[in-house]
Amino acid sequence: MQALLKIKNLHAGYGPIKALRGINLDVQSGEIVALIGSNGAGKTTLLMAICGIVPPQEGSILYDGQEFAGRKPYHIMNQGIAQVPEGRRIFPRMTVLENLQMGASHKDGNIQNDLERVHAMFPVLAERAGQIGGTLSGGEQQMLAIGRALMSRPRLLLMDEPSLGLAPLIVKQIFDFVREINKAGTTILLVEQNAYAALKLAHRAFVLSTGEIAISGEAKSLLQNPEVRRAYLGG
Ligand code: ATP
Repeated sequence: MQALLKIKNLHAGYGPIKALRGINLDVQSGEIVALIGSNGAGKTTLLMAICGIVPPQEGSILYDGQEFAGRKPYHIMNQGIAQVPEGRRIFPRMTVLENLQMGASHKDGNIQNDLERVHAMFPVLAERAGQIGGTLSGGEQQMLAIGRALMSRPRLLLMDEPSLGLAPLIVKQIFDFVREINKAGTTILLVEQNAYAALKLAHRAFVLSTGEIAISGEAKSLLQNPEVRRAYLGG
């Protein structure tokens, strides 16, 4: 079966800084794949390279069989990929509804069905439709960032640290939503510092260490892997 996303020998960075050094990774349709690793390992850079924001210096990014390396972000984001960026980055001065509408801004026609679908998953976003986004709690802002990404009905959702800065109970709730979104048919590539929660949730995982894939495999087996336990799970 053809992978939805297949990355081969990807190199990318910032001037002299080589953030990614020969990454090979695949995501199959229907999966949740977690990308874990310590600060500065290159996780965010990898998501940015997929989106075309950090251009690849070498290698290939095949999405649904199409070459994305060298393509512009607007082209890539029109192909069924959406991103939930690190730190949520909603539009803080816009209302909740306007934020959601922005998520569908490149789509023609009626977005009512998409809005209803997102409201069904996050009723709080319907209740707070007229509230200014920046006044929501951290957890609600994360729901808004996810809801905004879902408005484009993506096949592949890229999520960068959705648990960052949230209380444990809210983190659990957000991870439950991620599972639900996946069950409803969206493939997910999830970057997480919270390695334990990510490995519990994902089907497969890749461990990134200083720009290279150090370990990969079934998420369940990585939970038992001594090296992963020592470096990322606190022993
Ligand atoms: P974190 O969990 O801290 O976000 P990360 O795994 O996402 O870390 P990246 O943010 O991708 O890591 O960073 C990879 C490397 O690239 C690091 O050495 C970082 O300092 C460097 N880097 C990231 N962004 C830039 C930038 N805009 N300019 C220069 N160097 C950068």
